[in-house]
Amino acid sequence: MRPSLLDPLFAGVGSLPGIGPKQEALFARLTGRGGASARVLDVLFHLPSATIDRSKRPLLRDVVPGETVTVAVTIDRHRAPPPGRTRAPYRIYAHDATGDIVLTYFNAPRGYLEKLLPVGALRHVSGVATLWDGMLQMVHPDRVVEERELDRLPLVEPVYPLTEGLSGRQVGRAVEAALARLPSLPEWQEPRWLAARRWPSFADALRAVHRPESPAAAAPESPAWSRLAYDELLASQLALALVRAHVRRPRGRRNVGDGRLRARIVSSLPYALTASQRKAVDDIAADLAKPERMLRLLQGDVGSGKTVVALLAAAAVVEAGRQAALMAPTEILARQHYATIAPLAAAAGLRVALITGRERGRERAEAERALAEGEIDLAVGTHALFQETVAFKDLGLAIIDEQHRFGVHQRLALARKGEAVDVLVLTATPIPRTLVLTYFGDMDVSQLREKPAGRQPIDTRAVPLSRLDDVVEAVGRAIDEGQRVYWVCPLVAESESIDIAAAEERFAALKARFGRAVDLVHGRMKGAHKDAAMARFAAGETRVLVATTVIEVGVDVPEATVMVVEHAERFGLAQLHQLRGRVGRGAKRSTCLLLYKAPLGATAKARLAIMRETDDGFRIAEEDLRLRGEGDVLGTRQSGMPGFRLARLDVHGAMIEAARDDAALALARDPHLETPRGQALRLLLYLFERDEAIRLLRAG
Ligand code: ADP
Ligand code: MG
Repeated sequence: MRPSLLDPLFAGVGSLPGIGPKQEALFARLTGRGGASARVLDVLFHLPSATIDRSKRPLLRDVVPGETVTVAVTIDRHRAPPPGRTRAPYRIYAHDATGDIVLTYFNAPRGYLEKLLPVGALRHVSGVATLWDGMLQMVHPDRVVEERELDRLPLVEPVYPLTEGLSGRQVGRAVEAALARLPSLPEWQEPRWLAARRWPSFADALRAVHRPESPAAAAPESPAWSRLAYDELLASQLALALVRAHVRRPRGRRNVGDGRLRARIVSSLPYALTASQRKAVDDIAADLAKPERMLRLLQGDVGSGKTVVALLAAAAVVEAGRQAALMAPTEILARQHYATIAPLAAAAGLRVALITGRERGRERAEAERALAEGEIDLAVGTHALFQETVAFKDLGLAIIDEQHRFGVHQRLALARKGEAVDVLVLTATPIPRTLVLTYFGDMDVSQLREKPAGRQPIDTRAVPLSRLDDVVEAVGRAIDEGQRVYWVCPLVAESESIDIAAAEERFAALKARFGRAVDLVHGRMKGAHKDAAMARFAAGETRVLVATTVIEVGVDVPEATVMVVEHAERFGLAQLHQLRGRVGRGAKRSTCLLLYKAPLGATAKARLAIMRETDDGFRIAEEDLRLRGEGDVLGTRQSGMPGFRLARLDVHGAMIEAARDDAALALARDPHLETPRGQALRLLLYLFERDEAIRLLRAG
């Protein structure tokens, strides 16, 4: 149960003075909690996006047009628009000892202006000064105050992100009301850490950002904002550490193999493992042998050879007398894994079955029976592996390919199919270290950074669509030389059928030119037809494969040397990198042609430039992060991974490691969060709504 100390913060915004049902709905939209109503806390976490500096208080003589200024003036006269011309401006003339200024209003009631700016009175007027007809003017001053109110006029005013129907003033008033509700909370950060960084308390930090003393005080880099961001990062790392401690309950089992199956597989490989593959296999085997559960991420660029590492991990578990499962995100990939693995497994005496939505009837029933009775060592499949009818005799290792396509709960669902299941996640997205920490906590990481030997660099070019004919010519030459070509048409998401029509049209045009050498795969095709088309292409029966992005992930045809991406400007960097990784897998030199529609926007231009510049997946991932923001890199926007509200990865990302260490240390000293600091950390978890982790504390 949430401590009652936090109740005022979790009350609805409607509980704040001056906020009725209409504004309540607008605040719900503004703070964007997916339709849920906004709470006082959400208003406090709605931080300014900029500030207006009202600290300039010049004499009229010294005003620089275009600047925001606050001037002290005496009102001379009002000039209302002539009767009947309500749209003409209402002008008020004023002066100080050094000059004159006109205050201009449109559509303002006369009575209101006469009260606000009475003739003969002194007023402090704040707004942007401009030049009009050679005279200083201020159109609709932001603020007008009397002398005695001057010290209530903020020198620096926060500017908030708004939504239609809600003004900056209204948001500002709600924030002020919310600040008044801030309870005094115990400190959850280490006092020494706070002192070293000169960070204020949580409540003071919120006040400092919402009532900035200078523009810098409300910037994400400020000590106050940094403290709030660190609070959020610490909450998330603490929650992840708790989840992990739970998943890693030492009820894990030791899986110590004798290396016999692994040795047989390695000796039947037509190549030698790279050093990083060997290290990954060793690290995994060491994890498996430990009495705690494994939770390891295997990161490797496309083509870096993750599949064989996964197979060797499975073999290690099988040596220990248990079973393994390898789950892929798509049917095609599951089949491809199966095709790669089956012969290697057969050579080593490892029994493998394929289980996808397409295996049905008697064969499927037989596979399920064999799996349940332990006659199958390794099940390769899609999410069909989650189905209730699928049971293992003794599942010891779940391997999940392309993790970011699955939600975290699915990862756990597969792990529940056995007792103390170790988990290995394969990802082709070279996730920057900061993001690994953010989303997976202190999950262990193995990286395959070397490309297998003999790989040639890929010649990457950006070509405008106006040169389509040249590209078709080049494709023709490649086919004549016996090479194979992928031609990818984008999915634009609004309507799949329109996209498929575009791919079909390209297919028809290329077919008219190259005849039966051309084939087509797209997402709407039946699985068997897709596989058949892929198989024909892999076997060389067809030479040009027109595809929607179904080939994006993992498909391996070493003879393919040309990748054409049509409308490359519509793809993200990570996607382009994945697509390009489909070629350059054989000994021949490969080409990637990025066909774009001119003119290019700034981001698209930057993406294509980066693609030409580098094929280092880690660098591309970092650039992608920079260009698109963190959510997209992992595709988490779709799978609804909770984001961060205050922390910005570009500004505060460097603190994630510290937050992780801090969380680990706090839990090592106080595993049940019972000390005074532990109690305060519980509040922090509630405050950032990571309190699900607290339930785990109770369960353990
Ligand atoms: P990915 O990491 O993209 O899943 P794969 O496991 O599909 O990569 O491997 C890509 C290709 O590289 C496969 O054809 C595989 O047989 C080959 N391969 C893997 N490891 C090596 C190696 N050490 N030396 C040479 N080729 C390798
Ligand atoms: Mg793969």
